[in-house]
Amino acid sequence: MTKYVYLFTEGNAGMRNLLGGKGANLAEMTGLGLPVPQGFTISTEACTQYYEDGKQINSAIQAEIMENIKKMEEITGKKFGDDENPLLVSVRSGARASMPGMMDTILNLGLNEKVVEVMAKKSGNARWAYDCYRRFIQMYSDVVMEVGKKYFEELIDKMKIEKGITQDVDLTADDLKTLAGQFKAEYRLKIGEDFPSDPVDQLMGAIKAVFRSWDNPRANVYRRDNDIPYSWGTAVNVQMMAFGNLGETSGTGVAFTRDPATGEKKLMGEFLMNAQGEDVVAGVRTPQKIDQLKEVMPEVYNQFVEICNTLENHYHDMQDMEFTIEDKKLYMLQTRNGKRTAQAALKIACDLVDEGMITEEQAVLMIEPRNLDTLLHPQFDIAALKAAKAIGKGLGASPGAACGSIVFSAEDAEKAKAQGKKVVLVRLETSPEDITGMKAAQGILTVRGGMTSHAAVVARGMGTCCVSGCSEIAMDEANKTFTLAGKKFVEGDSISIDGSTGNIYDGIIPTVDATIAGEFGRIMGLADKFRTMKVRTNADTPRDAKKARELGAEGIGLCRTEHMFFEADRIAAFREMICADTIEEREAALSKIEPVQQADFEALYEALEGYPVTIRFLDPPLHEFVPTEEADIELLAKTQGKSVDTIKSIINSLHEFNPMMGHRGCRLAVTYPEIARMQTKAIIKAAINVKKNHPDWDLVPEIMIPLICEIKELKVVKNVVVSTADELIKNAGIDLKYEVGTMIEIPRAALTADEIATEAQFFCFGTNDLTQMTYGFSRDDAGKFLNAYYYSKIFESDPFARLDQNGVGKLMSMAIKLGKGVRPDLHVGICGEHGGDPTSVEFCNTLGLTYVSCSPFRVPIARLAAAQAAIKQK
Ligand code: PEP
Ligand code: MG
Repeated sequence: MTKYVYLFTEGNAGMRNLLGGKGANLAEMTGLGLPVPQGFTISTEACTQYYEDGKQINSAIQAEIMENIKKMEEITGKKFGDDENPLLVSVRSGARASMPGMMDTILNLGLNEKVVEVMAKKSGNARWAYDCYRRFIQMYSDVVMEVGKKYFEELIDKMKIEKGITQDVDLTADDLKTLAGQFKAEYRLKIGEDFPSDPVDQLMGAIKAVFRSWDNPRANVYRRDNDIPYSWGTAVNVQMMAFGNLGETSGTGVAFTRDPATGEKKLMGEFLMNAQGEDVVAGVRTPQKIDQLKEVMPEVYNQFVEICNTLENHYHDMQDMEFTIEDKKLYMLQTRNGKRTAQAALKIACDLVDEGMITEEQAVLMIEPRNLDTLLHPQFDIAALKAAKAIGKGLGASPGAACGSIVFSAEDAEKAKAQGKKVVLVRLETSPEDITGMKAAQGILTVRGGMTSHAAVVARGMGTCCVSGCSEIAMDEANKTFTLAGKKFVEGDSISIDGSTGNIYDGIIPTVDATIAGEFGRIMGLADKFRTMKVRTNADTPRDAKKARELGAEGIGLCRTEHMFFEADRIAAFREMICADTIEEREAALSKIEPVQQADFEALYEALEGYPVTIRFLDPPLHEFVPTEEADIELLAKTQGKSVDTIKSIINSLHEFNPMMGHRGCRLAVTYPEIARMQTKAIIKAAINVKKNHPDWDLVPEIMIPLICEIKELKVVKNVVVSTADELIKNAGIDLKYEVGTMIEIPRAALTADEIATEAQFFCFGTNDLTQMTYGFSRDDAGKFLNAYYYSKIFESDPFARLDQNGVGKLMSMAIKLGKGVRPDLHVGICGEHGGDPTSVEFCNTLGLTYVSCSPFRVPIARLAAAQAAIKQK
């Protein structure tokens, strides 16, 4: 029989998959002899079973839970549901990977009218008893029954106004008792029945709510962004309560063993006296710095510091811990490897290597490749920043520079993003409902909350710039306005925030690109030491190519030549070529294009300094290039010496019902060989010129023919290339090698890769088209229905962003095997969007690809992901 429930004494850190991160670490801390309020973990398998049973906790699992409640009673000497000596518990979620904001904690479970009265009497602390009770009703209603916190907060605010007080701690026992009554009435009003008084019902309701939360929209979005499979499920931890709200000798807090924003080795954290956990993270009261605990309770502080050291030495990583002090006694409620900014992650990894705590390989494995993205984002221009005067200051909660127009709600942030606008989301405080809006914003600014507030933690996880806790702001969220430094800001006004210093500026401060230096450079150096797969870039301009080289690209894996014609001064000749209706007209247009292409290619070769350059023949979906504006049509008519009507009818004749499967790729070169000839000339002539200037460079242009589905197609185009190139090289009297290869982006090409490899010297997987054609989903339209696929659990991620390993991956694997069977030295890369996605890069490493190619700013991510894949596959 499967065991679903484990006491903390039965687990350890190695059981993370079964017990979730929180459960496994509570068990590990118990094993280390640290002061942990005891309890048990209901496994992730129980969560899976809950869904299999139609969202029910079956009777066997319920019985096992109750058996463990009995065991908890024996350990604690208290009784669940007992009036005299009640055992109160917390119920908290804990997945394998930490998922902030997925589900809130429920504290003080087990309370009802009778229990609270006894507790008040026996403790002689009625204020505490009723504070626990009103919190429980509030949390249970919110988390389990989804009533919504705000109704309860409104009641608290009303009470405070009536009493003429501003702080929750100033509410008396009687006030809290009245509030508890009002909360229960609110519950009855919203739910239509009484608040549950039976602790067993409360417990099962709470556990169910945790399981249910695994499938809430927030969790699904978070999982998709962070590559966490739905099948993992969440565990639930049931733990004896330790009370931080017992009075002035009690408190609660969170701390990191190193600074999660900078990585600096120093204890960082916050605490609140006479409070419970959610008060610290909710940012309702501004907490005290952990150092101040030294003065408030020196013994507890010293014990805590010792525990922090023990935990860091034990886990060999920065720890993020939660603790509670119950009447001067310290309890540890959680430890985990702390979330950190990319900057901090790099510093911590390097420091841990230097401290002899971890190996270089472990340091490389410790950095989340996706997070590097934030370091590659622009920072404020130093001169402009110096000239600017800060108008306010909050906490630098998540580094980076952000500027944009002000919005006041997550919804508005999303709307603005959809319109291509850059915004800064300004909130009193954020809550999990704000996640999608936070993602849409360039930066987040909050009035309340510390370094561990929701906004700070979530923004750091996302790599979004955040300034939290700027209490100088007088906020009026309802009217979408705030006042800072005497100025009234309204929606749409511009603002800049600095997530490192916490400074806030009026207006837009220009930003500059980031560079790889310091610890970033060191980790990248280590990544390069361990990885075996090369990383190239997709670049169409010398500027992009230079940037990619700076970021470590070892070649160009894809130059989309049609992208070289987007600029206004070039598109005219391109349109002439498309709209030509005789070969002479086309040749005339091509002769205008050729020198431009040649100059571009020369600049690309120069930028790459001898590293490989793959140039793809034109692959324009024609509809993207034909003129649509009347003035452009008139101009074209004039240059071609045709009437506007003739041009319009040519444009009409180019209309395709399915342009993505239309007259593009090699089909263009088959129809108009003169285009392939012109491009070959430009590529080879440019190489001849550059080689003359740099005889030491190993310049071997790679000519890539797109959208091949049949070997004879490749032969026809290749013949044009070879005859043109060989003649040019012979006439130049130079020793220049070149390669002709193809993209594998149509399933038939993968299926017949052995035939294709007889002609192709290299393959490059165009997984954008290969995904499109394997699924039969239009790349341009899939966004319209993918959400329904996520909702129905058909897909967990976008196959255009994360490679489908089972289907598309199988075609790739087959093509490599077939291709290499014919041509063992065939080099194989990937240049679809997946080349910069860490999970897909890992898969490409498994397939044995020679390189991945991605956009310039993703090059460092791919380098790190390739290194991690190599280390894991050792
Ligand atoms: C691809 O299809 O994966 C590819 C890289 O080509 P494009 O995106 O230009 O079609
Ligand atoms: Mg393609």
